[in-house]
Amino acid sequence: MGRVAGRVCIVTGAAQGIGRAIGEALLDEGARVCFADINGDKVAQVAAANRARLNGQGGNVTSAAVDVTDRAQVKAMIAHTVDTLGPLDVVFNNAGVNKPMNFLDVTEGNWNFIMGVNGLGCLIGMQEAARQMIAQGRGGKIVNTASVASRQGFDNVAPYCASKWAVVSLTQSGARDLAKHNITVTGFAPGVVATEMWEQVDNDLMQIGAAERPGQAMEAFSAEILRGSVAQPSDITGTTTFLASRDSDYMTGQIVMIDGGMTLV
Ligand code: NAD
Repeated sequence: MGRVAGRVCIVTGAAQGIGRAIGEALLDEGARVCFADINGDKVAQVAAANRARLNGQGGNVTSAAVDVTDRAQVKAMIAHTVDTLGPLDVVFNNAGVNKPMNFLDVTEGNWNFIMGVNGLGCLIGMQEAARQMIAQGRGGKIVNTASVASRQGFDNVAPYCASKWAVVSLTQSGARDLAKHNITVTGFAPGVVATEMWEQVDNDLMQIGAAERPGQAMEAFSAEILRGSVAQPSDITGTTTFLASRDSDYMTGQIVMIDGGMTLV
């Protein structure tokens, strides 16, 4: 029996990277999973690939196209999941974006874009998941993706850091408010994970003159990882499945660092 057998889970930002890995690890431990992403075609392919991987047990997997900043779309994602897979147990608010800019050059547009997806998207995801769980009357779990950038401010990515600090405070506020409904709210904070986000960040840093060659920024960020290397998405999923499982029922309001010892706070 898997650690999350039969649990109905939604993972946003699941077309690639950490989100995809979270969803696949949940499936491997018996969950029913909705992979959700703004890139609807790509996330549908992820769901199809997993259906094939599970030898056609398609009832365990679905997908949804969603912009997490759009409340109506988030509601529709939840309704689709419940209709297709059953009552909602766990939501991972994982979708996130970054767009490095030198500190003095940060614009309102850059701020609003990043805070919109990472901050407001997290809030809307928490609210709509909680409304569904309250209506069902059997509690639930909300898990938010924070970052080492939730613990320290870094230059060139100030709005990203602010948005990930927002994820921590939303986790704490949500935990306090939703405890009476038997809903726990936790989060996890990766350090440097080898995903397409880092390829894009590396390119962006070169474009603003903060790095000279591909990989330089990732190496610089990674220099102080005690475990000696950057993470792969699979390094994250043991913890995320734990946070979706009953083993973590007594935890709420906490952020678990999964950064190889990069930040000791
Ligand atoms: P990624 O860029 O590879 O994947 C992010 C996914 O989110 C993409 O599939 C994208 O289409 C989707 N997305 C973007 N905007 C969306 C929106 N408005 N609505 C729905 N989906 C949207 O990134 P990743 O590295 O897998 O990161 C996943 C999460 O982990 C993010 O919240 C990120 O900030 C966080 N994180 C990543 C790292 C890292 O080193 N990669 C470190 C710490 C935290």
